[in-house]
Amino acid sequence: MTVKSKLSDVGTSIFAVMSKLANDNDAINLSQGFPDFNTYDDLIDLVHYYMKRGDNQYAPMPGVFRLREKIIKKIERQYNARYDVDNEITVTAGATQALFTAITAFVNEGDEVIVFEPAYDSYVPAITLNGGKPCFIPLKTPDFTIDWDEVEKNITPRTRMIIINSPHNPTGSMLSKEDFKELERLTRGTNILILSDEVYEYIVFDGNKHTSISFFPKLKERSLVVSSFGKTYHTTGWKLGYCVAPKKLMQEFRKIHQFIVFAVNTPVQMAVADYLDKEEKYLELSGFYQAKRDYFLNHIKNSRFKYVPAKGTYFQLLDYSAIAKEKDVLFAERMVKEFHLASIPISVFYNNAPKQYFLRFCFAKSEETLHAAAEILNKM
Ligand code: PMP
Ligand code: GLN
Repeated sequence: MTVKSKLSDVGTSIFAVMSKLANDNDAINLSQGFPDFNTYDDLIDLVHYYMKRGDNQYAPMPGVFRLREKIIKKIERQYNARYDVDNEITVTAGATQALFTAITAFVNEGDEVIVFEPAYDSYVPAITLNGGKPCFIPLKTPDFTIDWDEVEKNITPRTRMIIINSPHNPTGSMLSKEDFKELERLTRGTNILILSDEVYEYIVFDGNKHTSISFFPKLKERSLVVSSFGKTYHTTGWKLGYCVAPKKLMQEFRKIHQFIVFAVNTPVQMAVADYLDKEEKYLELSGFYQAKRDYFLNHIKNSRFKYVPAKGTYFQLLDYSAIAKEKDVLFAERMVKEFHLASIPISVFYNNAPKQYFLRFCFAKSEETLHAAAEILNKM
């Protein structure tokens, strides 16, 4: 029997590969992005409560009403953007499913999708599976910013979607108000949709604030905004996320959503709906992770790694060019095997990786873990 792959040049995701390599080599795992500490006890209690109470059957297809209501109120408070609870929000199985669903709903054979590189790894396979063509535009180093002239040059009548991600994984960069102005200028009068991946919206440092695309009315009209409670509540394993978009777009999104999962985990949705009342839990997150970023960077300030502190997310890029000039995949592999520290080589997030020497380290870890990792980095 021959099997024809629909994604012939795709292997196993780098996150699975590096986490396995970390386990096999008994290494400290700063590769895949997840906290090594537990979520909140009272949130676990709430899930337990709803499970015991019997909320264990299918949730409504778009999500538990109370959760949708709390999310859109939160969005209105924070970004001054209004969405309708019945028609403009869907709760998803993590951001990954929301992204896949959004791309599947709108990208047709031959459509072009602008993707900024390095890009989170789930975007491109979703585009190609739907017959779309990714149009890669590299972010400009050293700050990993968008070159809007390049974007303008690459917009064609076939451009269907632009995917943005701020705060940005893997580089930790963030879009500015000027970036959104440019996006507004370039999409005005077109049918281009914007898919805005905002999963790190509450992890923003140095007194800055996250700017959601929903804040800009002209952009909101053409945008699908995706976020995830995995990051916000230290629960990456619960896979709870959502997408908000104007009704016309959400209708199409739901047509796909209902056949991918239909609905997602009921007791977790109920519990998170309650937990959203504790606004401080997500508003404190930036300070919490900034302390971790600073702890980590302080402990490697005398190492041979160079860095620009991440502006957001729980990832820090380190430049190892003063230590070695081998390719990042090889260097990352050697680091796990010889030094027992796992990271993510960022070339895997490129279609065409430039010559550069960055590894991504996840600092969503206890001080003990970060301290041990820093000791290793200092010896290299
Ligand atoms: N987008 C980005 C930029 C991410 O970093 C992640 C996960 N780390 C996701 C989407 C997926 O989120 P989830 O785990 O909720 O599917
Ligand atoms: N988003 C996480 C990261 O960037 C990993 C998600 C996954 O394992 N698929 O590390």
